[in-house]
Amino acid sequence: MNTQRPIISRSATVLAVLVLILAAAWGYLFGYPAPPVDPAWEVAAADTIPEGAVVVRYAGTSTLLFDDGDTAFMLDGWFSRPPPFSVLFGKIEPDMEAIRYGLEAMEVDKLAAVIPVHSHYDHAMDSPEVAMRTGAVVYGSEATANICRGWGLAEERIAILSDRAPFQLGAFVITPIESKHFQFNDPEMVETMLTQSEISDPLVPPASAFDYKLGKAYVLLIEHPRGSALVIGSAGFVPGQLEGIEADVVFAGVGGIGSQTAGYREQYWAETVDTVKPERLVLIHWDSLTGPIDQPMSGEVRIAGFLAAGAEETEAFLKAKAAENPDLPFQTLPRFAPVVLFP
Ligand SMILES: [Zn+2]
Repeated sequence: MNTQRPIISRSATVLAVLVLILAAAWGYLFGYPAPPVDPAWEVAAADTIPEGAVVVRYAGTSTLLFDDGDTAFMLDGWFSRPPPFSVLFGKIEPDMEAIRYGLEAMEVDKLAAVIPVHSHYDHAMDSPEVAMRTGAVVYGSEATANICRGWGLAEERIAILSDRAPFQLGAFVITPIESKHFQFNDPEMVETMLTQSEISDPLVPPASAFDYKLGKAYVLLIEHPRGSALVIGSAGFVPGQLEGIEADVVFAGVGGIGSQTAGYREQYWAETVDTVKPERLVLIHWDSLTGPIDQPMSGEVRIAGFLAAGAEETEAFLKAKAAENPDLPFQTLPRFAPVVLFP
């Protein structure tokens, strides 16, 4: 009888310790760390918008809204944030409530166009629904067109982009440049997410995240009488491709760069920012793909590290580049709020 008590309390202690360890591991793996950017880079939202100014708003990843007061258009229009388990092992689909929330937060009801930078789920999955709600035409590759068809967007609201063929939206002229997606380090990811690039039939969700194939990866040159911007949605490059292109502002995607080699990062930088030499640099695609849309942006949840591995490397690299380029303002945008891009 005397020995019973200590045994019970010992096993209770062991159990309690185990529970604490599991809880800590769970909290670590499923917790959202700070994003890999310097908080000091965030620009303040505009409290007044000059007449005719071009305003930009950011929802996360590469969802950007450009608006000059007459014409508004959006890149990607992605607001759903399916959780890590569904992305890895389950099926995903547009989250209607997240899309409603995002459009309302960005104060959008009418858009001329939605332009996904490529067809992966974190760019193009919600594009047709955003187009339906705003009257927009979706511009993209054949893969993007099949995402739209699978969602039931009318054929006359789908336009196929041609490499370096500019098109006009109000006073904006958009030139799509076929480029390369970020190159994953893992051969299996390269095969699934890059080499198999086509979506040849209408894609009807719910579907696997891996069914949202790349299509084509575009760099977008956006020209307006008040200024020009180059959006590089994914951290890929084609050597020499951006030579001769000028833009006041470069929006540079940095998703995944921490998981690549130092050589890759340097070459990406040389082929984009160093080639175009903008006056301002806005970093995009540094936030979590699974963090809720109605919360402040965070770094990638650790369990989904493959989506944004090497966050420490990303942050160290960006801070080193900022130190090397003291005359180039490094900026991030607040979530949803308007920022004056060209006064
Ligand atoms: Zn992608």
